[in-house]
Amino acid sequence: MNSDIDPLYDKTTKCLLCDHKFHTKKVRSRFSLARSMETDFFTEYIHDTNGKNINPLLYYVNVCPSCGYSYSDEANTYFLSGTKEAIMEKITTHWKGQDYFCDVRNKKVAIDSYKLAILAGSIKKERPIVMAGLHMRLSWIYRTLEMTEEETRFKGYALEQYEKSYFQGDFQNSSMSAIRLSYLIGELHRQFGNFQKASQFFSKIIHIKQPMKDRLFIELARDQWYDMAKVNRAKKV
Ligand SMILES: [Zn+2]
Repeated sequence: MNSDIDPLYDKTTKCLLCDHKFHTKKVRSRFSLARSMETDFFTEYIHDTNGKNINPLLYYVNVCPSCGYSYSDEANTYFLSGTKEAIMEKITTHWKGQDYFCDVRNKKVAIDSYKLAILAGSIKKERPIVMAGLHMRLSWIYRTLEMTEEETRFKGYALEQYEKSYFQGDFQNSSMSAIRLSYLIGELHRQFGNFQKASQFFSKIIHIKQPMKDRLFIELARDQWYDMAKVNRAKKV
């Protein structure tokens, strides 16, 4: 690969809240090559080991330097009545025009960007699937820092939001399919030791006659379900 190419590029975007046009860094897709993926979709990237901070996780949130409104590309462009004013009052009035979020980010800056987006999203009453995506990714950043307590805390919030999304159905307008979401909720319950709940969600999908698109998740659910069943049987012996 040509080492002269900057893995990051400036994406021009327009703030959903104040219409200010700004640049924010994104990772070129050719540099987003996965080395490995864990059972909850946490992905390690091949080019993340050379200190260049080109993990796409760091650049998921857009932070408007003008008003401070922070959001992922999944955010709803529509604001419920009164929520724009509420964000301006709670965020913009305290905003000091920080523009370093638009530059190369380290993990500390990325964490702050997620916290801003979570705050703005909760004021805006953003869809649960969007809030879940923010909490899950923040939890992954803490995992890379081996900050287990924070990782677990935000993973717990992600699980709550994923379940809310599953029952409300708002994921249907996102890139998340019902099968993938059921698997992920099951897997997060399994990681928290809630085996009964995990089984409930895995068993929703393990008997599905497989559409090719989501076969991976059905197979993962089967693997985890059988592993849990094995552990259960061993406990009873
Ligand atoms: Zn703005």
